Amino acid sequence: MSEVAIKVVVRVRPFNRREMEQNQKNIIRVLDESTLVFDPDEDEDEFFFHGAKQTHRDITKRIKKKLNMEFDSVFDDKKCNEEVFEICTKPIVTSVMNGFNCSVFVYGATGAGKTYTMLGSENNPGITFLTMRELFSQIQKLECERRFEIGISYLEVYNEQVMNLLTKSGPLKLREDSNGVVVGGLVLKQIRNAEELFELLIIGNKNRTQHPTDANEESSRSHAIFQVHIRMTDNKTSVRRTVKLSMIDLAGSERAQSTKCKGLRFKEGANINKSLLALGNCINKLADGCKHIPYRDSNLTRILKDSLGGNCQTLMIANISPSSLTYEDTYNTLKYASRAKKIRTNIRQNTITTNIPKEFLLKRCDAQVTEIEKL
Ligand code: ADP
Ligand code: MG
Repeated sequence: MSEVAIKVVVRVRPFNRREMEQNQKNIIRVLDESTLVFDPDEDEDEFFFHGAKQTHRDITKRIKKKLNMEFDSVFDDKKCNEEVFEICTKPIVTSVMNGFNCSVFVYGATGAGKTYTMLGSENNPGITFLTMRELFSQIQKLECERRFEIGISYLEVYNEQVMNLLTKSGPLKLREDSNGVVVGGLVLKQIRNAEELFELLIIGNKNRTQHPTDANEESSRSHAIFQVHIRMTDNKTSVRRTVKLSMIDLAGSERAQSTKCKGLRFKEGANINKSLLALGNCINKLADGCKHIPYRDSNLTRILKDSLGGNCQTLMIANISPSSLTYEDTYNTLKYASRAKKIRTNIRQNTITTNIPKEFLLKRCDAQVTEIEKL
């Protein structure tokens, strides 16, 4: 058992057309790979760009002292998904192969770049794709030593209801057992290669609940939880490990009133806030080292329980816009992210004797993508 901190990185997206047209001020300055300044002074700006007498280092030191915010990594608007993957999630794949549960979640206001980071665009695949490709490349290298069985689940928490995105069914009920929170009635899909996994990812993405809001037409108002469950058996020793890799795309963290939603849309906003409020409370309590953590306050935190405080290496990617248009949301996201840095989790390597989820009773089957036994 060893204690590790949650890794927290910040990614700043480029200005969008609307922000440029409105001539919005840039409220983020990335100083180096791990430091940013929120809302730098205009004076400092003058100094930074025109201060002929001071060296770049002098000025950087001054700003850092005054306003710096440090994270495990900071990605400016020039960094692409590939670079985020290389630094953030490639090492996670190695941890997974060594038998550690890992989780990656993206947090931030609607339009800040969460889905872009996770899924990317056609020409710029997101970190989920890149991470899964790396996972299968590592699996291929180890296939002569170990046997791998892989099951996929893709869940959505929408208005506090848990839906199965792969079968478009639900709501599913959560319950607790000795292994933690179990999603009742969830059927994992067995896959044998990266292509099958990507097919399922595409199906699940199509099934996500999407509604236009004032804040961002493309945005999804739901939390999406993509999980890869891997059972690996060593050919020589027969030692088995089961591990879980989770990729979580959270709904927008902005306040409901700022999206001017009414009726059902408002209810969605309220529930999203309930879930994210609960997540915030859990993060605060974990950061303070409290004994009782209120995971039970929302379905999102129940599902994320083992990712936040349990046997899991966790990476949080906080997505922000650089524009003054989203000043408050950006500030809140950075505050959240700073708190999350303080969380420590106890992790251990999973083996057959420690933590085998009951759902891991994989059935061999010839169909291309097969369902596996129910929980
Ligand atoms: P969110 O999921 O947080 O609501 P999106 O990922 O949908 O936000 O991003 C909002 C818009 O900004 C999208 O059009 C997306 O393509 C664009 N975008 C986000 N991040 C980047 C980035 N790093 N580089 C280029 N475009 C981005
Ligand atoms: Mg999104």
